[in-house]
Amino acid sequence: MAHASTTVVHNTSGPAVSMKFPHGKRFAFTILDDTDDSTLENVKPVYDVLKAYGIRTTKTVWPVDCPEGSRNFFAADTLQREAYLEFVHQLAADGFEIAFHGATMESSTRDRTVRALEFFKGEFGGYPTLYCNHGQNRENLYWGHKRFQTAWLRRSIRLFRKEKGSYYLGDVEGSDYFWGDLSRKHIRYVRNWTFPRLDMLEVNPEMPYRVPAAQHVNLWFSTADAPDVGAFVRLLSRQNIDRLDRTGGVCIVSTHLGKGFARDGCLDSQVENIFKILSVKQGWYVPATELLDYLVEVQGKGRTLGAWQTAMLEMRYLVNKIASVFH
Ligand SMILES: [Zn+2]
Repeated sequence: MAHASTTVVHNTSGPAVSMKFPHGKRFAFTILDDTDDSTLENVKPVYDVLKAYGIRTTKTVWPVDCPEGSRNFFAADTLQREAYLEFVHQLAADGFEIAFHGATMESSTRDRTVRALEFFKGEFGGYPTLYCNHGQNRENLYWGHKRFQTAWLRRSIRLFRKEKGSYYLGDVEGSDYFWGDLSRKHIRYVRNWTFPRLDMLEVNPEMPYRVPAAQHVNLWFSTADAPDVGAFVRLLSRQNIDRLDRTGGVCIVSTHLGKGFARDGCLDSQVENIFKILSVKQGWYVPATELLDYLVEVQGKGRTLGAWQTAMLEMRYLVNKIASVFH
């Protein structure tokens, strides 16, 4: 790892830590693209520009169709559309990461999840290494109140949402929706918390991290949150990008590139400007798995998160959520 730069980062949960990035880069940035609403037509213009600026990111996909229909996501493409599959293959060839967003846009029992993972492997030569839960799919892993590890928080969320039993069953052995064993075997990273800020070192410097009770997930990570183009433009303000650069932070932004980033084949001009600003900075622009692997292998992350740190992270998420309601 020659010519790595060192930046002193002050985080809120411990003393200053040194973060080095490969090739003398000053900070790390990537995008985790949730495939909801994505079609070949509305995301290709975004990826064309990302590629042109040398920003390699992570795109989630749904490998198989949803013949029963979907009220909210019917318009999105799956890998069963030939032209879209070809486009995703090109993305993989260009160095973008292709990740798993579940088998398809609605709940899948184990047989469909297995079919989707095998289809993925057949197309891309290996299983996906990164997964992100989708909407209200029942095979989601540790979702609903089970996202919270801290007992009193979990209990409160369960009461607040009036969740009686466990609706999300991806991690429940013996259920029709169970695929936790396959997650454990193939998936290295699963996203959990999201925060309205760019630098995850300021919120979750330990990431990726283990949670002993969530035995079907190898490592969890957190991301910034910008659900659509408007939120993305607000979050990626010049000021925030400059700050990320200055503090040497690590940023993964969860967004939906299918939600307004391109219209009539053209990328939104404000988004293009953001990509342009990033491209002239000394950022390390690699897909999420590559970035997380680096944090584990070089920075020694990937350890178990203690109960106190877990509670702080969960509380912080809740406080941000509540604040956003009143904003
Ligand atoms: Zn989704």
